[in-house]
Amino acid sequence: MNPVLVLGGGPAGLSAAGELAALGAPVVLVERESYLGGNPKRWHYSLLAPDLKPAEEVLGPLLRRVEGEPRIERLLSTTLTQAELKEKGYRVTLRTAETSVVRDVSAVVVATGFDHFDSHRKFEYGYGRYPDVLDFKEVEAMLHEDRILRPSDGKPPKRIAWILCVGSRDIQVGNPWCCRLGCVVSIKQAVEVRQRHPEIDAYVYYMDIRTYGLWEDLYWKSMQEYGVKFIRGRIGQITLAEGGSRLVATGEDTILSRPTEVPFDMIILASGMEPSAGTKEVAAHFGLTVGPEGFLTPRLSDLNPVDSGLPGLFLAGAATGPKAIPDAITEGMGAALRAFQYARD
Ligand code: SF4
Repeated sequence: MNPVLVLGGGPAGLSAAGELAALGAPVVLVERESYLGGNPKRWHYSLLAPDLKPAEEVLGPLLRRVEGEPRIERLLSTTLTQAELKEKGYRVTLRTAETSVVRDVSAVVVATGFDHFDSHRKFEYGYGRYPDVLDFKEVEAMLHEDRILRPSDGKPPKRIAWILCVGSRDIQVGNPWCCRLGCVVSIKQAVEVRQRHPEIDAYVYYMDIRTYGLWEDLYWKSMQEYGVKFIRGRIGQITLAEGGSRLVATGEDTILSRPTEVPFDMIILASGMEPSAGTKEVAAHFGLTVGPEGFLTPRLSDLNPVDSGLPGLFLAGAATGPKAIPDAITEGMGAALRAFQYARD
């Protein structure tokens, strides 16, 4: 059997590669970055919502399974530059910094993940101009290191606000979809801050809280056990005040229907999820169906969400839309099984 190509070394791709190897298939795992682990590794995710489990406890076993497996050939800092459908499987060209190689593969799993919305695009929030306006992926690294300090002066903050739906549910930036995870991750971050530093006040500005399914429990706990405060409102602008030492969030309290202007020491933007650059490239090379949002579209999203509609090509994880890590891992397993069946028959 020619190897199965797995594109993407995040949770979905690691899950698919490990599962294929366990089924006895040779695997070529391709990752454009110089490391495996995807966004959780890149941004040093701290605890995972909603169970507050350290990210390493989920990512570690996935990585060890792949790194210790002789059936899996790992190609890092490598991208797909060409793909051609053969009678069975595909002929692909893979490029590293030094060279290009052509490989015949029996099936393909696309697990190219997502990119966080670039918060610079919401210029009214001052991300990149004001050092104490942070993106919530950066706060993950702070929490991971247990160093909750203002970047501007290295002092501990007294009041932090989270602003939800940054670059999501926002027609102005062209992203009308919901990111699915911004609420629960922001609430999780607020809980982490309050657990470790109860002296810091935590506020969350929201349009709606979308902690779907059983995750609602963390929302209630955040208020009842950790004293996180929720304000339904839209923040239109962040400015500097008090000689530049504090941020001011200006907008509207949509319950009281009145303007609001509140000072904070740090403001954290819950940036949404967008199709990754790798997802766009791979879609173009294979001729995959892409939805209006730019995510890959399964042939039957309800009946078989891992089937791309192209022969021997299967989809997993956030390449098809915003997704939590457990869902990405599950889809990686499903796509691996379908790829194995296709490659073997
Ligand atoms: S999950 Fe929450 S933060 Fe993300 S877009 Fe939906 S409502 Fe907004």
